[in-house]
Amino acid sequence: MQSVIEAPAQVSVPVEGEAGRFPVRRVLCVGRNYAAHRREMGGDDRDPPFFFSKPADAIVPPGNDVAYPPATANLHHEIELVVALKAGGADVPAEKALDLVYGYAVGVDITRRDLQNKAKGKGQPWEASKGFDQSAPISAIRPWTGAPPQGRIWLSVEGQVKQDALVADMIWNVAEIIAEASKLWRVAPGDLIFTGTPEGVGPMVRGDLVKGGVEGVGELSFRIV
Ligand code: MN
Repeated sequence: MQSVIEAPAQVSVPVEGEAGRFPVRRVLCVGRNYAAHRREMGGDDRDPPFFFSKPADAIVPPGNDVAYPPATANLHHEIELVVALKAGGADVPAEKALDLVYGYAVGVDITRRDLQNKAKGKGQPWEASKGFDQSAPISAIRPWTGAPPQGRIWLSVEGQVKQDALVADMIWNVAEIIAEASKLWRVAPGDLIFTGTPEGVGPMVRGDLVKGGVEGVGELSFRIV
């Protein structure tokens, strides 16, 4: 294609054991997918999980620092299992949904909590609180077939463990998340889905070293600069 301006770079994430990288098309995120986190956010136990999104260029590949963003004084970590799709479709039944999975990664849904609370109070959209630059650091993707990860998901700030739970505690499991997403969008190869965070979200400040992991999937670490 001949471009009238310099073409934007394709965002991509490294893959464990592969020279090739995973190109990112779109980033969907699930909100309130762990009951204890839903409660700490003031949610009602009957509220089902829901989706929001981040732009692909919010992704921060492993090995990079994260710049403390402007316009916030309360920047929060949310450790999440991330699903990477190799195939797509619309109205995908949950029984077929795992066939779409390329692999899994560990990600952090970085949130300007002060802006999010303000937006919630006024019934305004979440883009500025969720979809800002460098708001989605991620580990390498681990190719995966079969039953999704179920084990420990954790995050530490400066060596102190802040979030520590089990992926098995998700309200919507991975297959249900993909099925639900595909009722709202045609999902496609290159899509990443952040599957929600467990309880224990909290602030990060400049200089903090943040580490996180999902058992069997991998770990990530980055510094807030
Ligand atoms: Mn989240």
